[in-house]
Amino acid sequence: MQSLRFKAIDNLESVKEVDVKAPTKITTIFGENVFTLKVARQYLSDEAYKSLAGSIKNSKKIDRAMGGQIANGLRAWAESKGVTNYTHWFQPLTDLSAEKHDSFFTLKGDGTPIEEFEGAALIQQEPDASSFPSGGLRATFEARGYTGWDPSSPPFIMEVGAGKTLCIPTIFVSYTGESLDAKTPLIKALVALDKAAVDVCQYFDKNVTKVTATLGWEQEYFVIDAGLANARPDITMTGRTVFGHAPARGQQLEDHYFGAIPERVYAYMRDFENESYKLGIPLRTRHNEVAPSQFECAPIFEEANLAVDHNTLLMDVMTRVAKRHGLKVLLHEKPFAGINGSGKHNNWSIATDTGVNLLAPGKTPKTNLMFLTFFVNTIKAVHDYSELLRASIASAGNDHRLGANEAPPAIISIFIGKFLTDVLNQVETRVGDKFDEQDEAMLKLDIHKTIPELMLDNTDRNRTSPFAFTGNKFEFRAVGSAANCANAMTVLNTIVADTLKTFKKDVDALIDKGDKKEIAIMQVIQKYIVESKKVLFEGDGYSEEWANEAAKRGLPNVKTTPLALDAYIADKAKHLFEGLEVYNHAELEARHEIMLEAYIKKVQIEARIMGELATSVILPSAVKYQNVLIENIKGLKEAGLDESGYSSQLAIVKDISKHIAAMGTGVKAMIEARKKANEITDTREKAIAYCDEVKGKYFDEIRYHVDKLELVLDDTYWMLPKYREMLFLR
Ligand code: ADP
Ligand code: MG
Repeated sequence: MQSLRFKAIDNLESVKEVDVKAPTKITTIFGENVFTLKVARQYLSDEAYKSLAGSIKNSKKIDRAMGGQIANGLRAWAESKGVTNYTHWFQPLTDLSAEKHDSFFTLKGDGTPIEEFEGAALIQQEPDASSFPSGGLRATFEARGYTGWDPSSPPFIMEVGAGKTLCIPTIFVSYTGESLDAKTPLIKALVALDKAAVDVCQYFDKNVTKVTATLGWEQEYFVIDAGLANARPDITMTGRTVFGHAPARGQQLEDHYFGAIPERVYAYMRDFENESYKLGIPLRTRHNEVAPSQFECAPIFEEANLAVDHNTLLMDVMTRVAKRHGLKVLLHEKPFAGINGSGKHNNWSIATDTGVNLLAPGKTPKTNLMFLTFFVNTIKAVHDYSELLRASIASAGNDHRLGANEAPPAIISIFIGKFLTDVLNQVETRVGDKFDEQDEAMLKLDIHKTIPELMLDNTDRNRTSPFAFTGNKFEFRAVGSAANCANAMTVLNTIVADTLKTFKKDVDALIDKGDKKEIAIMQVIQKYIVESKKVLFEGDGYSEEWANEAAKRGLPNVKTTPLALDAYIADKAKHLFEGLEVYNHAELEARHEIMLEAYIKKVQIEARIMGELATSVILPSAVKYQNVLIENIKGLKEAGLDESGYSSQLAIVKDISKHIAAMGTGVKAMIEARKKANEITDTREKAIAYCDEVKGKYFDEIRYHVDKLELVLDDTYWMLPKYREMLFLR
């Protein structure tokens, strides 16, 4: 029987490119499946529209009566587009979205069939929470959880094949009100940031009444032929290859980055982009990435909560649309060993309702001081809470990437470029001096005149930095490609909010003592630069020297997820999150537990699939081929040849035996290690055991022998598609 591998390779010949119907102008389809305020205006009464708009713009609560009217309008709109069902769409702690569909169709008390959508159904639902991760927050006897409408993210229609469903973005909380999702804490963090930043903005501009965080994510991904992917049980089960010898050609030719996009992938991209446009996801950029078969897309940035929803939605759309093209999209952080992994760069900034980007250098001394304030506060926040930022990006998948000399290291540092380093140095060297009126020149900082220099810094910016300033925003580059970026955004916005709050206290204290406002601000900025400058690093983040230097500076370098997650339950974190009402203690403990459990399960599944493949796929192939060689040697001997006539064959026979034995020993020992780990009741200890004793001790070891077997076995005996096939054939 032909193996799946060769069937898939044969099938590649007959792949037909999908005809993608693209609009001539994106604007003609953009947002057509979104219940925007503009659409709402056509479907709602004045009263209902005002209520919805007020809720979106000023976070005003929508009352139940209005909810009914809005629900009616929503249904009318959705039905005009052929929708029969609706669902609350939420993001439980699985990195994926969840839905539970209900139809508008119902029976009245007397049996009359009607279509309806009640306000209550729009505002709140009760999915069974027991099937989602809850970290012990939901006792088994109380399985109820609530989803609650988030009006700040507009409802949309999801088209799957011919089916259309109205999706209402919601939060997801337990019966007792604790968050069980990615969105609830993010919204709370954004509220905290808004408040703290508006307070600080008052020093510079009294007109500012609202500050929002902006997010533009860059999504990296791999696309491979679905037939080849299906012949790899490891990809199906874990999203990555647990075995596979490096291909003769990897990314060393550096010919993929920004190269021409392969046609089949190009059709796929246009297809998922169109689907995304209809959903209002403002995709803008597409290109090849560094590794073969690796690509990236990025949208125009949006308000952070909406941007997170759009990213979650995009990952879903990408996965579904790939099927149409006979492709498989891999969002895993490290699908292939030996070539680059994938990240999700989070470009982040903060903007006022007066239209100012607070991280864009200004044009006047006053706006420069405002820029410097937010710039330095962000640096201080990252410095003070770097462990927490590290924790926010920790996952089994991302562990392969962080510190693997191709992605930002696990050490959190900030790159700001030469020009701003000089500016901070100028401010800092005045330590001890009291700023006075003569420091007007200092306050000017002439930043606006040197935008070209900033641009220069930006263009040759440091790709090895996990957190880089890129001209008018920070780019958090260490986020994992498969992650829900809400985690990283919740932490980042919370720590900046907290730092800004302290900043205001510090400045006010000096003003109370009689300092002039600008002088007080400058003094505090100077103090913060001194206190946090050790987090700044302009050099090569991949280098050994940096790891040593960072250790000397006392910067944490936590390489694995189980330990990185400790930061979430440290007193410092509890104090921070509770103080800003983002997480209470119980929620933090629960999240910690959930993330550890996710880690354990992922490593466990990988370990199982490794064992299974080694025993039931690799070993039989190796034995079959070995027998062929043995038969051959026997025959040659009978024909009267001496050892020189079959020495190569014999060497391979011995080699195969050696690797089979070592592989078998490794698998057996790994199973034992797993059994031992499973007996551990403390989740953290268990995760550490899975990390160090199961994965750390055996994964690479087993893989080494399997990959060697791949190299020596007759190619036709090898069942799993090889790297060269997955990465270069489409
Ligand atoms: P790169 O050089 O990294 O490709 P781009 O200018 O293409 O930089 O931007 C990358 C991402 O950063 C895009 O999603 C873009 O919309 C986003 N971005 C730009 N300005 C901001 C901002 N002020 N806040 C948040 N994201 C932003
Ligand atoms: Mg970028």
